[in-house]
Amino acid sequence: EPTINQIAAGEVVERPSAVVKELIENAMDAGATAITAELKDGGLSFIRITDNGAGIPKEDIPLAFLRHATSKIRSAEDLLSITSLGFRGEALSSISAVAQVELITKTPSSLNGYRYLIEGGEEKSLEEIGCPGGTTIIVRNLFYNTPARRKFLKSATTEAGYVSDLMERLMISHPNISFKFILNNQVKLQSSGNNSSRDILYHIYGRDISKELISLEYQSENISISGYIGKPVINRGNRNFENYFINGRYIKSNVITKAIEEAYKPFLMQHKYPFTSIYFEINPSLIDVNVHPQKLEIRLKNSEEVYQTTFHVIRDALSNKEM
Ligand code: ADP
Ligand code: MG
Repeated sequence: EPTINQIAAGEVVERPSAVVKELIENAMDAGATAITAELKDGGLSFIRITDNGAGIPKEDIPLAFLRHATSKIRSAEDLLSITSLGFRGEALSSISAVAQVELITKTPSSLNGYRYLIEGGEEKSLEEIGCPGGTTIIVRNLFYNTPARRKFLKSATTEAGYVSDLMERLMISHPNISFKFILNNQVKLQSSGNNSSRDILYHIYGRDISKELISLEYQSENISISGYIGKPVINRGNRNFENYFINGRYIKSNVITKAIEEAYKPFLMQHKYPFTSIYFEINPSLIDVNVHPQKLEIRLKNSEEVYQTTFHVIRDALSNKEM
């Protein structure tokens, strides 16, 4: 019988891609500049995320796996202007409730590192080891103790595909971080971290798309917009290529999606969707992130301003460059 913790955990981490997302967000919050994600069997048997971030001090290791333990919110006020990616303190506790987890971590100031094992929410061991600075988390046998959840998963190939999509978006949204994605011992995706989002788009989408891009540049007090949009010749029958990032997150906002599509309307046939890879920086105090448990959707407090700005920036770019 799964415990309440295991049931709750399944809502936070419903599949391997959700585990990878949470662990990589933690690595980014820890200031990592190089992050490797390694999967076997679609992530069902093995997920390993390695980062070169700040590490976790020994005394904080068991705490990090407690429910609602987060080092990222110091006061209620912080909730109003969240800049770190994680803030609920649920990921590590949830993952460790439904898998066998191994953590290896070292802070710069500590002479040695630590290895911590926790399975199904039960602490197994904490020992001193030698290791490089940063954190590695290995998640084995996801949902081994919640067979109902496990049955919910798709094939290893499909689950690996979700992770691959996620890795692409992470690479695009963080061109300053060097990512590597290894699947069944093969390097599938890699980015240099040299800050060129155009290089990454080329690597992921190939020449045909990357030669038909228009770059965006806009800045006002509350909103800045940069990145690339496809000329109308690049269009698709679905929204899979219509990507944008808000303050570094791959996240949806109805307001922004609508503004993009309305701006493209005169340029695209009905039922066609554009290619976009747009970076929005929006004043955090104007955002309410905490809407969706997996943080996939946000509500904007200045939605009219964001709508108008987005619409006009894209419409102007298309009007100028359209031949
Ligand atoms: P949250 O990210 O919401 O704080 P998590 O359960 O994801 O909660 O992580 C709990 C805590 O563990 C974090 O607040 C952080 O202090 C620590 N932590 C987790 N992953 C890492 C990492 N890769 N590097 C450094 N610290 C980490
Ligand atoms: Mg987190």
